[in-house]
Amino acid sequence: MQVRITVSFPYEAPVSQSLFERASAVTPGGVNSPVRAFRAVGGTPRFMVSGTGPYLTDADGREYVDLVCSWGPMILGHSHPEVIAAVQDAVSRGTSFGTPGAGEVELAEEIVARIEPVEQVRLVSSGTEATMSAIRLARGFTGRPKVVKFAGCYHGHVDALLAAAGSGVATFGLPDTPGVTGAQAGDTIVLPYNDLEAVRTAFAAHPGEIACVITEASPGNMGVVPPLPGFNQGLKDICSGNGALYISDEVMTGFRVSKSGWYGINGVRPDLMTFGKVMGGGFPAAAFGGRADVMAHLAPAGPVYQAGTLSGNPIATAAGVAQLRLLDDAAYEKVDAVSAELRALVTEALAKEGVAHRLQVAGNMFSVFFTGADVTNYEEAKAQESFRFTAFFHSMLAQGVYLPPSAFESWFVSTAHDTQAVERIAAALPAAARAAAEATE
Ligand code: PLP
Repeated sequence: MQVRITVSFPYEAPVSQSLFERASAVTPGGVNSPVRAFRAVGGTPRFMVSGTGPYLTDADGREYVDLVCSWGPMILGHSHPEVIAAVQDAVSRGTSFGTPGAGEVELAEEIVARIEPVEQVRLVSSGTEATMSAIRLARGFTGRPKVVKFAGCYHGHVDALLAAAGSGVATFGLPDTPGVTGAQAGDTIVLPYNDLEAVRTAFAAHPGEIACVITEASPGNMGVVPPLPGFNQGLKDICSGNGALYISDEVMTGFRVSKSGWYGINGVRPDLMTFGKVMGGGFPAAAFGGRADVMAHLAPAGPVYQAGTLSGNPIATAAGVAQLRLLDDAAYEKVDAVSAELRALVTEALAKEGVAHRLQVAGNMFSVFFTGADVTNYEEAKAQESFRFTAFFHSMLAQGVYLPPSAFESWFVSTAHDTQAVERIAAALPAAARAAAEATE
């Protein structure tokens, strides 16, 4: 996708530039996950070499206040001493055994204790694996083929779930993905988000065929677009009334927006849930879980196959357990407070420059839409003036604040974002707001 750039780059990053050139020679697009590239905003992606608390340092030695937090996981900030200590302790005992281990039990117990609808849980290594496996389980449990998903919701790069997905798919404006066959996507029904009538119509059109509805508990992959009041409950009711499973994808919101994720905020009880990001403490750990009678269908207890060489890896589980145990009520209060403070600062700066925007919130997750209207679905999200975000992003970057390099992503904060970090962001906002105001398409 060709991006129009309306800002100049008054700063250089020669070491990142040279690493990017080397990376591009050996890796498609120079990155190992598309949203890390700066294609949507232009310029050179920063290659980070270290992270401490709320800060990242790039290969050129520049420090940034980090508002990406590894796309969610680093809710305690970078290099939290207790997480690092747990990892060092685990690594000193070996890195992978291919047998059950105590760390897996501890992490599963932490999850089950925090999230009441999760009676049993299976650990995997990525959010993608979690949603893929949950869908397979739902199909195996119900004996039905079809899956309902919502436009703008991203559930990882699962073939059947890439249709009209958010995150990188939204960032790059991909209509769909070559390599996903008609057969793989043919059982996926994509509906507009926040539209219960569309869900009812789909169930009426496919009686006895829909295995599950999967939705982000509160979407953050088309920017932050929370469910309208009653939407999640409506999904649950429609699923229950039609013998389908309601799958709540909490890979992003789980353990981030409250101790028990979005479930802890809206209380709608899913049949299955998926987790990742925060629960791994910065390591590859994810999970899916829910009703015990459904989970009992999973191998080796039941016939639905699912497996993983590194599932429940001892280092990842040690990091996850350490991080979750540190996430008490006070930690969430801190993250919520920092989020509220930043939101107020961003709103003030943009309003002062007369930039039309909507700052949308889900718990402590938030993002800015450069539009004058509320955003309730993917079509409305796409209608924003993304070129203003591009200008805003580069101004912030030049002033040492690292935002997600896309107008379609949530911003993330941590318990480590202290007064000094917030002050640095506050100091950068006026110029960034001005750049957004002056940007032209
Ligand atoms: N589900 C949601 C809601 C996500 O936000 C993501 C990743 O951003 C995924 C699933 C996929 O997780 P992973 O990138 O770990 O495969």
